[in-house]
Amino acid sequence: MSKYWNQRTRALSPYIPGEQPRDRKFIKLNTNENPYPPSPEVIAAIQNVANEDLRLYPDPECLELRIAIARRYARYALTPEQVFVGNGSDEILAFAFAAFFESGAAALPVLFPDITYSFYPVYARLWDTPFELVPLRDDFSLNIDDYDRPNGGVVIANPNAPTGRALRLEDARLLVERQAACGRIALFDEAYMAFASEPRSLAAYINEYPNLLTVHTLSKAASLAGLRVGYAIANAELIEGLRRVRDSFNSYTLDRLALAGATAAIYHSAYYDDCNRRVIATRERVSTQLTALGFELVPSSANFIFTCHPAIKGSALFMALRERGILTRHWDIPRIADYLRVSIGTDADMDAFLAACVDITCA
Ligand code: PMP
Repeated sequence: MSKYWNQRTRALSPYIPGEQPRDRKFIKLNTNENPYPPSPEVIAAIQNVANEDLRLYPDPECLELRIAIARRYARYALTPEQVFVGNGSDEILAFAFAAFFESGAAALPVLFPDITYSFYPVYARLWDTPFELVPLRDDFSLNIDDYDRPNGGVVIANPNAPTGRALRLEDARLLVERQAACGRIALFDEAYMAFASEPRSLAAYINEYPNLLTVHTLSKAASLAGLRVGYAIANAELIEGLRRVRDSFNSYTLDRLALAGATAAIYHSAYYDDCNRRVIATRERVSTQLTALGFELVPSSANFIFTCHPAIKGSALFMALRERGILTRHWDIPRIADYLRVSIGTDADMDAFLAACVDITCA
């Protein structure tokens, strides 16, 4: 704590990202990165713009990328004015909290589940936005009726993190409709939607619901966590709100390399569909094998599984895996202290993980 920090900095409780080890080689199953490399076209596109034009600022409108995204969703009749892009979806979430949710003790609370992406409360605190945690059911499923109360907006990760559970499309739409009826935003964070067996993005309904904002990332489904690109889809007025906030911080959130790589990734989505089918197949195989070993699993629609073993504490399991060179994610917080979130790696990674689980559970 420095005497030079202002009150706001003193009061911050920042997000803690998953460990990025430097000391030894781990099988990294702790930050939901895609185990497969980006498409070769993406790497070529980035290399192609690594030239002297880097002395110039990038396009602040990010127009080419927004056109590519609108085209990709052409079946939903989207225009580039309905697309916002940002430096990872985290940045877009931060902007959305600033743009759409009121601050101060008198404001109605923003609602999100008690077990969800742990960055949401961090943003709420950063912008002094009151929030309430709405408990998920015991099986970590979400009851939309629990959100039927005065609120300043709802934020739902679908599929949820770290549980991996997805909402039924009918429920998600009903929640958006109820929020529209009371003039409130429904923000759906679809970071993991591509890994659902049947992806049902709410982006399909943007033209129906003026209060709906969907947030997406290239970090997981497009193997580009290192490039930092996310995007949001909503009606043009909401997108304009995000731009107002962005342009009050930094007009150039995406650099030339990121714009080129992300645009190529959007156009080469067939490559990624193939990688992600492999991730889904591995997830299903590992889930079956873990169940046979006595693990309990939450049904996953994401590129990770959320699992516990009735005979081993979560912290002990985490440490035992770590000792065997396998990094997973563990939160020492109520309700989920006995669970681990395990990202889906390659088949070889997961075989090593399963072998370690056999070793630990049979010891
Ligand atoms: N939303 C959820 C639910 C996430 O798990 C993550 C990844 N930690 C993000 C958003 C942010 O992803 P990125 O900033 O890499 O786009």
